[in-house]
Amino acid sequence: MTCNIDETHDPALLAWVASANGHSDFPVQNLPYAIFRRGDDRARIGVAIGEQILDLAAVADLGLVDADLIAVLQSATLNDLLALTPAARRRLRHRLSFLLSDSGYEAALLPHLVAGADCTLGLPATIGDYTDFYVGIHHALNVGSLFRPDAPLLPNYRHVPIGYHGRASSIRPSGQPVRRPNGQLKLAGQEEPTFGPSRRLDFELELGIWIAGENELGGPIPIGEAPKHIGGFCLLNDWSARDIQAWEYQPLGPFLSKNFHSTISPWIITPEALAPFRQAQPARSEGEPRPLAYLWDESDQHQGGLALDMEVLICTERMRANSISPKRLSRTKASHMYWTAAQIVTHHASNGCNLNPGDLLGTGTISGPTRDAFGSLLEISSGGAEPVTLPTGETRIFVEDGDEIILRARAEREGFASIGFGECRAVVQPAVT
Ligand code: MN
Repeated sequence: MTCNIDETHDPALLAWVASANGHSDFPVQNLPYAIFRRGDDRARIGVAIGEQILDLAAVADLGLVDADLIAVLQSATLNDLLALTPAARRRLRHRLSFLLSDSGYEAALLPHLVAGADCTLGLPATIGDYTDFYVGIHHALNVGSLFRPDAPLLPNYRHVPIGYHGRASSIRPSGQPVRRPNGQLKLAGQEEPTFGPSRRLDFELELGIWIAGENELGGPIPIGEAPKHIGGFCLLNDWSARDIQAWEYQPLGPFLSKNFHSTISPWIITPEALAPFRQAQPARSEGEPRPLAYLWDESDQHQGGLALDMEVLICTERMRANSISPKRLSRTKASHMYWTAAQIVTHHASNGCNLNPGDLLGTGTISGPTRDAFGSLLEISSGGAEPVTLPTGETRIFVEDGDEIILRARAEREGFASIGFGECRAVVQPAVT
């Protein structure tokens, strides 16, 4: 494993940026990267520090980083940063931790701090490819029961990290609205399909995995090497149209029900920042198959899991009009992933498929075992049978126009500064008519 705990994780470390100290998402122990834009200015790489963003192009211009990192930080995307070796990425983290905690640099860097609230955050990278997995076992069981009551979990599930190829073109950063898709629907009681707006629009609470480095076409990634190919994590709302999905998904899997829009949180939370929050992958019960050798690594089993709390909230148009805070629909844990991030990466490349820096992998919906921990409305409403009541008295079985869905994630561990992912949010707009 390439993640070690070091002085950048010291919970006593303070930044000279006051808002960072005790910040719920972005204390100096986190240091996530994003692409930001202020007004009409060009897109730049920044690092989050409390409520501020430090312009890393400016830090590079000042010559405050090693020479090999200057061009990387002057780019308008994070692809080059994701192409760095873990050692180079760690070196950058150490440098930024030092620059932001040593008050000797305050005078030089203060002009290059911008208020996050004044910035627009874009997609972190040019995403070449996007693949979505299905590793949330409670989600797989719940959805399987709804779609195939006789065989909820197909026999391959415990052997293969199941996935499908999504669309990179429709991934958008947090804050951009999502338009309800039109599609083919086979409505209950009707003989023939119709075409029109999805009536069963849903969210999916997922983690995104940013690919770092690359493997050659034909050259798999051994499980022990997989951590080197993970450059960070984000939140991912894999918007899904359940009615389109139910009609189209057999035999080749999801297609237009999934690829109309996916929302991601804009900050790349690095593996280095998450080092203190690694944990063992939950042991499989007796009778469950042991993963095949190419997916098995003792170190990965020992520390390939993430101690992350994740939640999803809703805020309807009426709630916003009445200044009612978003209501939490669900709270779950990343430990409900049946496969680790490393197993996902290794499986993806196991046939020789090449992964590139800036590719994005989704884990699949991460649900817990109970209704208050389900990561989609399909599950929370039991396929539309059990509505959720909101503080306004409104009810929901699926997402309505005007609703905003908000995802959050936090890592906490005794003895360490907790860190957050920032938000992944989007408001639903009516379908094109
Ligand atoms: Mn998904």
